[in-house]
Amino acid sequence: MHYGGQMVDVEAVSRLAQRHRLRVIEDAAHALPAAARTGAGKWRSVGTTAEQTCFSFYANKTITTGEGGMLVTDDEGLASRARHMSLHGLSNDAWKRFSAGGSWDYQILSAGFKYNLTDIAAALGRQQLRKAASLAAARERIALRYADLLRDVAEVELPSARPDRRHAWHLYALRLRPERLTISRNDFIEELGRSGIGTSVHWRPLHQHPYYKERFAYQPSDFPVANAEWERLISLPIFPSMSDSEVEQVAEAVRSIAAGHSSVRAVG
Ligand SMILES: *Cc1c(COP(=O)(O)O)cnc(C)c1O
Repeated sequence: MHYGGQMVDVEAVSRLAQRHRLRVIEDAAHALPAAARTGAGKWRSVGTTAEQTCFSFYANKTITTGEGGMLVTDDEGLASRARHMSLHGLSNDAWKRFSAGGSWDYQILSAGFKYNLTDIAAALGRQQLRKAASLAAARERIALRYADLLRDVAEVELPSARPDRRHAWHLYALRLRPERLTISRNDFIEELGRSGIGTSVHWRPLHQHPYYKERFAYQPSDFPVANAEWERLISLPIFPSMSDSEVEQVAEAVRSIAAGHSSVRAVG
C-alpha cells in the first residue's frame, strides 16, 4: 500500500514475495500519479511494478469518478478473469450482444459480482485523467509550502518525501513527537478545530477495530509500532484548490499549538 501517495520500496516487496512464493497486489488508492526510481536508476510509474495494482476513484481521491476504481495488470489471463467476474460472471463477450452482429444469447460461467464502472463514471474518469498531472502539481506545491513553513517546528515530524519518488500527496500526514509535547494528539486536533481547521487521522490500525479484534483474537499489544504511530498521526488539509493563505493559516496554527504546549525547554 503506497501510503499517502509515496510508493513503497517495490523491489524489496518483490524480493520478499519471491522468497516466500507470494503474489503482490499493490493498493495504489493514494498514488495516482506516482513513480519510483528503481535500483537500476530507472523511473517506474505506479501500476507497472506489480502483477496487479488497484486504484480508487472515490470522491476524496486524487482523481475521482464519484465511486469506482481500476485494476491494472500485465497478465492477460488475470485481466480477462477480472472483466468476467466484474459483470456477473457473464461470458467475456456478453456486452457484444447489444451491438450490431452480436448474439442475443448469454451465459453465466462463474458466480461473479457487479463491479463494473458505469459509462457515466468512466466518462468522468477520462476527463479527470487529463487533469491528473496538474492536480498532482497543485498538491505538491502545497506539500512543499507546508514543509517550508513547518521544517523548524521541533515538536512535529513531517511526512517523508524521498528524492527517488514522485509523490502523489493524497495525504499530508504529520506525526507529533509526543516526547516533546505536553498535549495528546487528540487534544492537538481539538485545538486545531478551535482554530477552524478540520483534520483527520489515517488510519486507526485494523487490530484496534472490534471486528478484527474479535475475528482474529488480536491483543492491543500485538502491534506496538502501529499503536505508537496511530497515537501521533494527524492529516493536515491538502487539496488542489487550497490557497497559499489557507496553507499558511494551517501551518501557523500548528506552530502556535506546538509552541504553546512544548516540553522542550528553551536553552540560554
Ligand atoms: C480509498 C481507499 C481504498 C478503497 O477504495 P474504494 O474505491 O472506496 O473501494 C482502498 N485502500 C486505500 C488505502 C484507500 O485509501
